[in-house]
Formats: sequence, structure tokens, C-alpha cells
Amino acid sequence: MQADLIISGARIYAFDSLSGRYEALAVREGRILALGSHEEIMKMKGPGTRMIELHGETLLPGLIEGHGHFLSMGRSLRELNLLDTRSYREIIDSVMERLKGLKAGEWLRGRGWHQEKWDEVPGKSIKGFPVHDPLSAISPDHPVILHHASGHAILVNQKAMEIAGITDETPDPPGGVIVRDENGHATGIFEENAEYLITDKYEEYLAGRTEEEKKADFEKTLQLAEAHCLENGITAFHDAASTIEEIKMIRAYHKEKGLKLRLDLMLYGRPDELITYLDSVRPDDASKPGFLFVNSVKLFYDGALGSRGALMLEPYSDDPGNTGQRTIDTADFYRIAEKTAIQGYQLCTHAIGDRANHEVLNAYEQIYAKYPESSKLRWRIEHAQHIAPDDQPRFAALPVIAAMQSIHCSSDAPFVIARLGEERARQGAYVWRNLIDRGVLVMEGTDVPVERLDPMANIYAGVTRRQANGKAFFPEQAKTREEELRSYTLVNAYGLFMDPWKGSLEKGKVADFTIIDKDLMNCPEEDIRKARVLYTIINGKILYRNE
Ligand SMILES: [Zn+2]
Repeated sequence: MQADLIISGARIYAFDSLSGRYEALAVREGRILALGSHEEIMKMKGPGTRMIELHGETLLPGLIEGHGHFLSMGRSLRELNLLDTRSYREIIDSVMERLKGLKAGEWLRGRGWHQEKWDEVPGKSIKGFPVHDPLSAISPDHPVILHHASGHAILVNQKAMEIAGITDETPDPPGGVIVRDENGHATGIFEENAEYLITDKYEEYLAGRTEEEKKADFEKTLQLAEAHCLENGITAFHDAASTIEEIKMIRAYHKEKGLKLRLDLMLYGRPDELITYLDSVRPDDASKPGFLFVNSVKLFYDGALGSRGALMLEPYSDDPGNTGQRTIDTADFYRIAEKTAIQGYQLCTHAIGDRANHEVLNAYEQIYAKYPESSKLRWRIEHAQHIAPDDQPRFAALPVIAAMQSIHCSSDAPFVIARLGEERARQGAYVWRNLIDRGVLVMEGTDVPVERLDPMANIYAGVTRRQANGKAFFPEQAKTREEELRSYTLVNAYGLFMDPWKGSLEKGKVADFTIIDKDLMNCPEEDIRKARVLYTIINGKILYRNE
């Protein structure tokens, strides 16, 4: 059998069942034809065989993003990126710069700011957040929405509030807070469900555009997202919340143009919408190779730790009396979870606080007991950041996959001790080691665009737990490099039901590879985050090459 592609001279980490050591690998028709010694593989070389000759670079099974937001990532690449801003002043400057290019009445959207990362305190703040006045002053005509890095709050200007009809009398919606000053005026910060008061108006604005404008916009966003994945060595992506409308558009795009990488979409929507969809559409079968799957449902149980929205068993150490918020009606949660079980879908529930994790585990346990087949549906808890010690072994026992994001630990560390106190943080915050040692499957992801998609920064975070200041956050909970790379490949493949055909390098599995310039298993720790993707190969095709 002649190979279409041979990769030789690589340091190959196969993560296969044989734990084999290989020097080269052959591909035919999008599948792995063989792995073996240089001599064995070179016998499959023919006149038409394409060669990639490496010199000790690392070949991994194609990396999989286990929890990210695909279209939001694409949009964020087009929107104002505030991840690196270090003060409110800097944000205002960036907004001013971007306003120059806008058409009359156009909305401006940005994301990624986080007041805990600022070097200077703004003149006025309420609940630790900045107020809208400086933003309103520079943008009186264009509505502005700036998403907090956590994804659980927005800062908007006066124009946006005007369009949304926000007054002192506007009540807080269930599960959300309009932050107000001492005189009862909205400060421009909308938390959790209160965000919709503004973002619904933005959606209306977007919906008001022509069909052509919308299609072109969508395709540009999707293609930017694809290119960004390929540059980062990502060969499959589990999108952690697609609306039914987005699913329709992605399906249509895939039919017409074909997706470049493998996408799995978690279904997300209003309770009744979800129930109707689940009743009428069967889950896609991801046990055979493909490029687009919809077989999972996303629910949100609580908020985030940074904004003190994570639902905790005990009050926040820096806000006694506050235990966070449940962001879903429990009756709705059970109703949707049951339907998910009956219809054979995977359920992926966002839970960050220890009470949220506890209650979601209880719910899964009850549903598994009622519908025993559902325990095979690889149900997950997304983030699983703070878990009470007694709940940690339950993930393995039930079982429930912990779909965690290492990079969140490094980013959140500066405020975790303040929110939780030293002891609670030590026992339950980002406890990868405890979970893995108890037999729990811990997936890996970045939650992009909350964090960067960059797998090297994430791998570095997983094995060092080092913060920006160089200090490691409870380093005893770090993963080994092998565990970390397995999370990004085989464990994530399992979490996406792709493990029969992806996630490891074995004969017959798809030819999805990520080639990296450094040996991530053995290089000095600091080199991990400097490592670069050299090739991204999907289905045997070279889709990205770093020149
Ligand atoms: Zn997410």
C-alpha cells in the first residue's frame, strides 16, 4: 500500500494503547496507514507520496479544544480586544480609536476587560466596577458594549442604556443585577441575566441588517475562527453554546463550503426551544469520522467567581452574606436534563461554585438512577472550578467528566484567595491532581474568547499553575506533562465521543496531527509557552504551515 503522506524524523507521542515508540508515520486517504520504524514506513513511499521530513520536532495527535466559543472567538477577532488593557483609561483610548471607523448609529462591541488586572484604580467605582460616565462622554452617539473577561458582566454607555430604555425604575431581572450608584442610577454594569436587557437590543440591531449583510458577516466570522484554530494547532473544537439559529447556519455553511476542522456544537437556547429541538432532532452519531456534530446540550447553573456569581456553599470571604447566584430555575434544569437523558444527548452544565457543582452532581445522580442508560452519555460539568472535598470522588463514581480549563487557574489565582479564603482554595480550587488521582476524566480547554486559544499557554498553566507574577497557585495540584497532553488529545476526544477514530495515533484513526517545534514532554518548563505550531494536518491534508 502506497502512502499519500509520510512524516519522518519526528518525535512521536502516539498515546496509543500499545504505548509504542515510533519514528515515522504513513497516511493514506485521510487515515493513518501505519506507524513504525523509519525503514518500515519508507517501504510505503511511492512516486506520489508527499514527504514531511522533520528533525526531532514533536508530532502529536491533533489537539482538540474541549470547551471554547467558536463564533464568539471569530467575532472577538473582529471586535475590540481588551484582554491586555491595564486600566480604564486604556480602555477609553482603545474605544476612541475604534469609533473613528464606524458608520452612523453603528454599535461598538469589545470584550476582555477585567478590573482586577488594572494597575490604577478608576476615579469612581461601584462594587469594584468602573462607571459608564467616561465611556458615555467619548461615545455619545454610538452604543457601546464591553464584555467583562469572565463573560458574566458587561459595561455599557449611556446611549446603549437609552436604546434599551433603562431607567431608575427598571427592575433587576431574575438571575441578574443592574448595578446602581448611591442615587439609584444605573452605573453601566449589567450582571448575568441583566446583560440581556442590553444585548437583546444589540441582537435586534444585528437582525435588522439585510440577509446578504448577515450572511457575509457570518461567513467572515466563521472563516476567521477556522484560521485561528489552524494557526493554533487545533483540529477539533467543542463549541460550548450554539443557538439553534447558529447551528442551522453552520450546517448550511458546511454543506455548501465544507468545514476545515471538526466541530461539535453544544445546543443552547431558552428552555422551551431546547425541549422542542430535543423532541424533534436525533443526536448526531460522533462515533464515526466527520466534521460536524450536534449531540450535546449546554446549560448554565451559576455565574463566575470573579464577579462573585459562582454559587457557593458558604459566603464569599470578601463579601459575607453573598453566596452567589443560581442562574437557572431548578425546575427548568431538571426538565431539560431529563429530556436530554431520554433523547440520548450529552449534557454539559456550567458549574463553577462548590454549591453549583454539588447540586449538579445530585441532579445527574438522580437522573442516572431514573434512566440508567444516561450514565453512558458522558455527561460533563463545565469548569468544575471549586469542588467541596466530599464531592470530588463523586465525579469518578457517577461518572461525570470534569471539563476544566487550566488557564483559568493562572488567570483567576490573583483573586481566588480573596474570594474563598486560603483553606477553601487549597481544598477545592482547580483540584486537577485530586480529581485525576481519584480516576476522574479531566478535559482541557481555554474557554476562548474568555482566554486565548493558545494551547501552549494552556499546557504551561496545566503543568505549572504559574500566575503572571511567576508564583504557582497550589502547585501540588499540577498535572504531569503526559496527563496534560493526554487531556488535550485522547481525553478530549472521549469527551466529544470521537475516541474511536481520533485522539491518539493508531492505524485506522484519522490523520489529524499537530506538529510542534519543541519537545513538550522534555523541554525546559519555560520553553513550553514559547513552543510554536509548525503544521496542522487534518484528514491527511496540511491546512496550516508555519513558514
Ligand atoms: Zn464557556
